[in-house]
Amino acid sequence: MITVVRVKLRPTPAQKDALASTLRRCNEAATMVASRAFEERTYRRQSLQRLTYYNLKSAGLSAQPALHVIRKVADAYTTLHANVRNGRYGKPESKRRVAVTGKPIVFRDTAAQPYDDRCLSWQHDKQTVSIWSVEGRLKDIPFTGRKEDLEQVREYRKGETDLVEHQGEFYLVATVDEPTPATFEPRGFLGVDLGVANIAATSDEVLYSGKRLNRKRLHYLNKRKELQKKGTKSARRRLRARSQKEARFARDTNHVISKKIVAVAERTGRGIGLEELTGIRERARSRKPQRARLHSWAFAQLGQYITYKAERAGVPVVFVDPAYTSQECHLCHHIDRKNRRTQDVFACISCGVTLHADINAGKNISSRAEIHWGSINGPCGCAV
Ligand SMILES: [Zn+2]
Repeated sequence: MITVVRVKLRPTPAQKDALASTLRRCNEAATMVASRAFEERTYRRQSLQRLTYYNLKSAGLSAQPALHVIRKVADAYTTLHANVRNGRYGKPESKRRVAVTGKPIVFRDTAAQPYDDRCLSWQHDKQTVSIWSVEGRLKDIPFTGRKEDLEQVREYRKGETDLVEHQGEFYLVATVDEPTPATFEPRGFLGVDLGVANIAATSDEVLYSGKRLNRKRLHYLNKRKELQKKGTKSARRRLRARSQKEARFARDTNHVISKKIVAVAERTGRGIGLEELTGIRERARSRKPQRARLHSWAFAQLGQYITYKAERAGVPVVFVDPAYTSQECHLCHHIDRKNRRTQDVFACISCGVTLHADINAGKNISSRAEIHWGSINGPCGCAV
């Protein structure tokens, strides 16, 4: 399984300056190459190397970084041209398409710069890296990250790593290729309903409360309104810091919950049933105002975390159609809007069963996942 892992660099002030000017110089160089490519209508990597390599060398880039800059430009044009072909910028004469294709690509000063092993080396025991910069090699820059991320980087890092700057901090985004076990044959499915009041509710009748997350979110929302009113530069800076803090909190919460859910499924030999993720996003958009409070990405993120942690553990994941999971009785399968008495209470008007509405939804997802699994995997494990 190929994923990316991000670690944070802790450079000294002098190293930080060197990293900043490295990114700036590489991106200025990329913009120069991009403009040359545009002039000559030449977008292939080899041709661009012939055209610009020596200019980049004389601009202070070493051989490898220069080649990476050229490839970055070639890749950017490949993506752009593919998007144009796919109609992403509209018809040939449309304003947007003309705006996008009528001028060369410009790289931001802080756009990511790829590094290979010759320009970046990792000392995992010391938890430091040594990295090429326009001011010479920077040695012994400490890095930090989540414990499991650091392990991944140490064990499975492969290929290139991007140096990126985000809000004044520097990060390395490493590609990791972790071998994953084959998925096991599940004995049933743990159904997981994602929501707001409860971030997750499982068919095992476990609720993961969203209280703390929502309280935080409301707090940030109010602060944000205050700061937006002010509109000063420092207010904007604080606003950015807050939105970052909020995202971090949501991320950590999602990591903790997804880890617990996957552990339960693994321990009990079950797969995991989830709603189709597009459905989750739509639902997050449509229900107001309560749903609006939770950004749709937080839903999608929890679904993603569960999916990749499950894949790593060999736990099969099945996505089910979420239609009526909140109105269907998990016992007698009677579907009626009136079954859902309140936000929390599910009381079946047909068989009389009463339970928490989110748990009922989790149970429906569980049985739908089981049916779905049975329909795509025959008794011998082959697809039928
Ligand atoms: Zn019922």
